[in-house]
Amino acid sequence: MGKIVIRIQDLSKDKYVLPGHSACPGCPETLGLRYVGMALEEDSILIIPAGCSSIIQGTMPKSSLAMRVINVPFASSAAVASGIANVKESLKISGIPVVWAGDGATADIGFASLSGSAERNDDIIYICVDNEAYMNTGIQRSSLTPYGAWTSTTVTGKREGKKEMPLLILLHKVPYVATASIAYPLDFINKLRKASTIKGFKYIHLHAPCPTGWRFDPSKTVYIAKLAVEVGAWILFEAEESKVKLTPPSDTYVDKNKRKPLKEYLNLQGRFRNLTDEDIKMLQELVDDSWKLILKFT
Ligand code: SF4
Repeated sequence: MGKIVIRIQDLSKDKYVLPGHSACPGCPETLGLRYVGMALEEDSILIIPAGCSSIIQGTMPKSSLAMRVINVPFASSAAVASGIANVKESLKISGIPVVWAGDGATADIGFASLSGSAERNDDIIYICVDNEAYMNTGIQRSSLTPYGAWTSTTVTGKREGKKEMPLLILLHKVPYVATASIAYPLDFINKLRKASTIKGFKYIHLHAPCPTGWRFDPSKTVYIAKLAVEVGAWILFEAEESKVKLTPPSDTYVDKNKRKPLKEYLNLQGRFRNLTDEDIKMLQELVDDSWKLILKFT
């Protein structure tokens, strides 16, 4: 596992996600898993609960992930990672327990064990790969689905906003919290590498637009992820010892005038097709509220 990188060509060329996996075309999770491999190389022990990634991975001996993986039930990822962290020295197991869990597994079903692990400051990295719904089971809403979005359980658009998950973990006063996006791989890799050098609980929340659930062209996954940051709907930051610092390019979007119009992001996604002008206004207000909240911690 290496140092902070500034060029993608300096990273390992090893394949961590092998050809032949069962992800949909344009899947953001395969990109994210590749970046985890590039960042931590042989050092990670991945803990993956039910979700798209457990399906993508397949089953032994045909696993498509060239990394150590333990598959666990939905609610127990953080508890399993904590257990490994606590026994790995005495059992002479090398590596960092890294949870790779979706938004439902993190913010809904697995929240209790995640909160417990954060409160105990267990020495793990927890990555929430956030595609903003339960995609694997049929696109049901989660508490990280944004306001107004269509899902199979919010057919007229979700009426509640997105839970401020990274800030909830920040309030556990853990040593490291960060957000990342699959559109900014070096930023994600560097945050992961930094997290791997810090003792205690580390949380990284990765924004991962899903073409199947969000209803957009699979060739546009990275474009839409980038747009989410450019319109201010996804804010990149890191927090060491609870002090938030915006990271590029989000640090330039504190000035609202520098952001692209939110509509550019919404118009490309079928899940927002039925938004009214009132809904768009509400979504803009929710985006602005998130900025105000995060800036209070800087
Ligand atoms: S539903 Fe979305 S996250 Fe799941 S495998 Fe397909 S593209 Fe990937």
